[in-house]
Amino acid sequence: MAQHLTTLGHKVTIIDRERAGFGSTAASTAMLQWEIDCPLSELTGLYGFDRAANIYRRSLQAVAGLKTLVDELHPGCTFRHRSSLYLAGGETNASQLLAEHHLRERAGLPGTYLDYLTLKREFDFDREAAIISPGSADADPLLLAHALIADALRHGASMYDAEAIGYNNFGHGVVVALDGGHEIQASRVILATGYVMPDFVRTELHRTASSWAIATPPQTPDALWRDGVLIWEASNDYLYARTTSDNRIIVGGEDDEDITEPSARDALMPAKAEAILGKLRALRPAANATAEFVWSGAFGETEDGLPLIGQVPRYPAMFAAYGYGGNGITFSFLASRVIAKMIAGHREDWYDDLAIDRPSPTA
Ligand SMILES: Cc1cc2nc3c(=O)[nH]c(=O)nc-3n(C[C@H](O)[C@H](O)[C@H](O)COP(=O)(O)OP(=O)(O)OC[C@H]3O[C@@H](n4cnc5c(N)ncnc54)[C@H](O)[C@@H]3O)c2cc1C
Repeated sequence: MAQHLTTLGHKVTIIDRERAGFGSTAASTAMLQWEIDCPLSELTGLYGFDRAANIYRRSLQAVAGLKTLVDELHPGCTFRHRSSLYLAGGETNASQLLAEHHLRERAGLPGTYLDYLTLKREFDFDREAAIISPGSADADPLLLAHALIADALRHGASMYDAEAIGYNNFGHGVVVALDGGHEIQASRVILATGYVMPDFVRTELHRTASSWAIATPPQTPDALWRDGVLIWEASNDYLYARTTSDNRIIVGGEDDEDITEPSARDALMPAKAEAILGKLRALRPAANATAEFVWSGAFGETEDGLPLIGQVPRYPAMFAAYGYGGNGITFSFLASRVIAKMIAGHREDWYDDLAIDRPSPTA
């Protein structure tokens, strides 16, 4: 947000109560995918094909936009162009995956359906089927965030190490009260506070869960899969995995909606790591399935897998950039572009699809 707004000539002040990037960004496995947690077939069931397909195409454009930005800035964040491999698993079988593929084709989205034998031959995964899709990426999320902040600061942004404790909306702006007693007066405020949403941003769509991840030691080449594709499963209880530039495997999953307290998350770390390693062993028997690093983080989810982006209801000078779930980073790019346009007075109908106060599709 800050990087884009400074580029557009806005005077920007960043407020962060922690070391920047050490919220959920540092915990991220940073699979920069355009495929949304909610499959196109499911999103079509919720909103109809045209609306769902448009959202998917916007997501594809967001990853492409992020790539262009990285090409311009050269942030040195090990950003790598990747394809993603969406594996049949859990409740999704080969014919359902084929139906998802046909729907994606109809929406103009790129990808190829792989049947069992082709998947086995090309990637040596023992699953019923998969969809391989170009257009995604991976990166070091902390270096990427720091590079973007550094660019914003170079373009004149300022940064305060402080907690925002109050927002006083007046006529045409907002006064933000900081914990040290200072106040900042702004014409617009953008809330990009990760999973810590202020009380006045209310939505029924969102819930916070926890996610766990591990990184293995560097692997031998035969243990890694072709082209370091990003792997994720078509299952509610899904597994996601990627390789790193130093040949480790990062695997995440085991999401749990009932665990939100950091201490409870930490206590479950050994058991969750073991469960994730078990899944890695099943997926890739040749891999050294031991964990050199284990971590966890708050993981927000919305009912429809879409972010919460746009004007805060009842507060016209306040905007929110909450990009949740497995696409948090892709959605943060989308948020920066949409909110900048909104600030400039621009409007498009599809912005409503991301609105914080959009009705729950299942209500
Ligand atoms: C385990 C895990 C795996 C993930 N995997 C992926 C993935 O593969 N791909 C993907 O795209 N996304 C993934 N995500 C999601 C993604 O990481 C997040 O959506 C994204 O990093 C959020 O960035 P952010 O800047 O909005 O929030 P954060 O990084 O959480 O930053 C918010 C900042 O706001 C500050 N803050 C909060 N309240 C205040 C206040 N009152 N005053 C001042 N400062 C405040 C915090 O200090 C923090 O630094 C994953 C998340 C987790 C936890």
